[in-house]
Amino acid sequence: MNSKEYKGVFVFIEQRECKISKVSLELLGKGRELADNLNEELIAVLIGYNMIDSTKELIYYGADKVFYAENRIFEVYMTEPYAKAMTSIIYDKKPEIVLFGATAIGRDLAPRISARIHTGLTADCTSLEIDEESNNLLMTRPAFGGNILATIVCPDYRPQMSTVRPGVMQKLEKDTRRVGKVEKIDIPISESDMSYKVLEVVKEEKEKINIEEANVLVSGGRGIGKPENFDILKELAKELKGQVSASRAVVDAGWIDKNHQVGQTGKTVRPGLYFACGISGAIQHLAGMEESDFIIAINKDSEAPIFEVADVGIVGDVHAIVPKLISRLQDVKY
Ligand code: FAD
Repeated sequence: MNSKEYKGVFVFIEQRECKISKVSLELLGKGRELADNLNEELIAVLIGYNMIDSTKELIYYGADKVFYAENRIFEVYMTEPYAKAMTSIIYDKKPEIVLFGATAIGRDLAPRISARIHTGLTADCTSLEIDEESNNLLMTRPAFGGNILATIVCPDYRPQMSTVRPGVMQKLEKDTRRVGKVEKIDIPISESDMSYKVLEVVKEEKEKINIEEANVLVSGGRGIGKPENFDILKELAKELKGQVSASRAVVDAGWIDKNHQVGQTGKTVRPGLYFACGISGAIQHLAGMEESDFIIAINKDSEAPIFEVADVGIVGDVHAIVPKLISRLQDVKY
């Protein structure tokens, strides 16, 4: 392999129902930094149908160029056509780095592509940097159950590929003055090439819970006492147009579904407002939420570590404080 032939940082842009996912914009933010360090271009790769208007957004969020592969077959995500499209673009354009969100789609697609093009893939990264000496990508991820952070490099093959956890990287401010090029890519594929077809997409109730996209999260821990007490947190979340999330202790206890778990082995979130109710603030929990813009912690133990990251700390019983907050919010509203 001649690594000099490989240029540019590519970000796979994930979309559902033509809506670009937050993680893709976050990856454009990180990708911009990596591309600038390498003095190369940042390219957004969008695979979809009827999405030409969205290509502008990708430039506003940092891309120099958008490769847009459009075909009706790409309307709904399917592994085979997306893998074919992405593999063909990588073969043709020879990027140096390719980033995917560590989402259900990214985790399905990225390993398949890395096997086809015979390169490495570091999954679930929480940090990406360029090594100043070698220009290799340093891909860091938790390893051995989260007890250590491992930094992985892929010096012998190109592109260097990784999936990145949602909520870890920061998207850039939208800049509508930015300009860039859009190149349409033709991927010759049709339904007759497929051995299956999607007849209908039925959304599971579970899928609607996407705490990574919420701007307000009301999170409950063991301190809320019992599963039914999530009801009052749901009420607070409803008042604030937010969602409920949780610590691992209550997920492990079966009080709430794993989809809600915040932390090192759960989801990484970065909402505008994060309530930690009856959560001690273990390091593994903090790893998933400490980048939130504003954190309010309610805990009856004034020494709880959660107060170290909180912008506002309320020492007291969550059962007394949350109902007061709800009633105050209702007073303000009406
Ligand atoms: P506790 O630590 O039991 O804390 C309960 C808190 O509630 C206490 O601070 C207490 O003072 C307070 N409290 C009690 N009653 C009240 C009341 N009435 N009102 C107000 N406050 C009250 N944890 C995660 O959350 N996410 C992860 O992804 C995660 N991954 C992990 C990965 C590994 C490899 C390991 C080893 C651990 C991981 N953990 C994770 C577990 C983590 O170490 C903690 O055990 C867990 O976060 C504790 O949850 P908690 O704060 O709800 O419970």
